[in-house]
Amino acid sequence: MSNLPVFEMFYSLQGEGKNVGMAAYFIRLAGCNVGCSFCDEKKAWQTSNSKQMSIESIIKEIKKTNAQNVIITGGEPTMYDLTELTKEIHDLGIKTFIETSGVNEITGYWDWITLSPKQNAFPLESSLIKADEIKVVIAKEEDFLFAERMKQRKTDLSATQKSNISFYLQPEYSQMHKILPSIVEYIQQNPNWRLSLQMHKMINVK
Ligand code: SF4
Repeated sequence: MSNLPVFEMFYSLQGEGKNVGMAAYFIRLAGCNVGCSFCDEKKAWQTSNSKQMSIESIIKEIKKTNAQNVIITGGEPTMYDLTELTKEIHDLGIKTFIETSGVNEITGYWDWITLSPKQNAFPLESSLIKADEIKVVIAKEEDFLFAERMKQRKTDLSATQKSNISFYLQPEYSQMHKILPSIVEYIQQNPNWRLSLQMHKMINVK
């Protein structure tokens, strides 16, 4: 079995998007080829900050918990082939979720794909097609234009595929109080969008 660079693993609650409040085991993989200025996980960019773990030992850790859902995040988790890991997780009867910017091909078996597109590295068309939800981080007024562009692209690509896509606007945490009133107003004017807040930060869990 192959190894993956694990920055951290922990059992917590999903704080963002449609599955907010759901108990989930998080696997944060190290390494990112995107490099957003507002990134709150910069420590996870370098694989030197991680521990190489076999899939067998990752599965062993998951099994110590009561988890029914596993969220694989980063860094940018699509830098790695996740076929084997997600298959093993599914074999336990546990659902798989991924959080990605979509800049690399998404490998593996997924029950839910969260795509958070970034302006400095646009997502692949194939990632947009597969996404179950689109979550755009808003730090300033101009970001609404990018959000609309991503929404339109997803809608065009998904015309004959997944329906029921959820589109979320999420304030960048450090700018939340400044930008939140604009996001609320924007959603009122454009009700296909929903608000996503980083609930885990507010309730002070990982
Ligand atoms: S893609 Fe995610 S992990 Fe990578 S720099 Fe951007 S916010 Fe950080």
